[in-house]
Amino acid sequence: MSDTDSQTHTDTLRTPIVAVLGHVDHGKTSLLDKVRGSDVTGGEAGAITQHIGATAVPLDTVSQMAGALVNPDDFDLPGLLFIDTPGHHSFSTLRSRGGALADIAILVVDVNDGFQPQTKEAIDILKRTGTPFIVAANKIDTTPGWNPQEGEPIQKSYEAQSQRARSKLDEKLYEIIGEMSEMGFSSDFYWRVQNFQKNIGVVPVSALTSEGIPDLLGVLMGLSQRYMKDEMAIDVAGPGAGTVLEVKEERGFGATLDVVLYDGTIRKGDTIVVGGANEPIVTEVRALLQPRPNAEIRTEKRFNKVDEVAAAAGVKIAAPDLENAMAGAPVRVVRDRDIDDVIAEVQAELADIEVTTEEEG
Ligand code: GDP
Repeated sequence: MSDTDSQTHTDTLRTPIVAVLGHVDHGKTSLLDKVRGSDVTGGEAGAITQHIGATAVPLDTVSQMAGALVNPDDFDLPGLLFIDTPGHHSFSTLRSRGGALADIAILVVDVNDGFQPQTKEAIDILKRTGTPFIVAANKIDTTPGWNPQEGEPIQKSYEAQSQRARSKLDEKLYEIIGEMSEMGFSSDFYWRVQNFQKNIGVVPVSALTSEGIPDLLGVLMGLSQRYMKDEMAIDVAGPGAGTVLEVKEERGFGATLDVVLYDGTIRKGDTIVVGGANEPIVTEVRALLQPRPNAEIRTEKRFNKVDEVAAAAGVKIAAPDLENAMAGAPVRVVRDRDIDDVIAEVQAELADIEVTTEEEG
């Protein structure tokens, strides 16, 4: 888009997409569960909403969870969208226009276990895709002599620890900082980092006691606001663009696509082009589905139908002919564009994905 173009629409800031990576058992799922489960009821805060494949945490809720560390008046990004499937395998298959689908990542490292093979693999992928990230140094509650401070920011938690517990933890955190350095990254305790583009912030956390979770959310929000605002400015009414998380058979709908939309809007009735196993699939959106809140297991209606969805969001797309669609493939709404251009765009992106996958293999 040229500068003159961008002045003709009113750009909207979308939610940054957050992915969680790290070695098995280091606490990725627990950390995500903590963020997703800490729903704030009542008050002015918007609820955490379950999307397909992702969880949206609005700014007000981030701010309630982060306390004094996030003042909503300092931010104009609308919150954070967490991809629900943790792990670098899903991260590396999920791309958007050549880059990573996630705008920012949390690398989870168990303070006792330090860097493990999958930690290193994750760092290599983050490096290659140029994805900004922070390190969540997890399981700080397992430090010998730790005096847990449920849900508190890390400074407050530190103050409540004995000198001995504090230095035991610091020792482990310095090991992580050392290992980061061996991987070619300069990093430090996040509160000492001045320039997050040069230094990676290390945030001590516990997914068990929620200590440091306020800091983690504060750093994610701060980083996004400071360094990614331009990328988050989208023409929200424009034709939607997204990435397929999964192709799933659903009773009553046939093959459906679980998609994360990172640009524009998708509407019921839209013609879309989707990357397929053999060739791009051109089809028309029959229904857009979102999880029904508190749906009981085994109820027939697990989904709500909606007329349109705007980025960033997770959504299930029901449409004919989706059997050969592929996880990781691009989805594009055609809208008022030339369909052949959109097909060419999808083909080019598919070729790019295949080349990179081969390099990885
Ligand atoms: P994942 O494989 O990275 O998703 O790891 P999980 O979230 O499944 O966690 C692996 C194990 O570590 C589980 O038994 C968790 O209960 C435990 N765990 C995760 N985070 C913490 C933490 O902060 N403190 C403690 N003590 N245990 C944790």
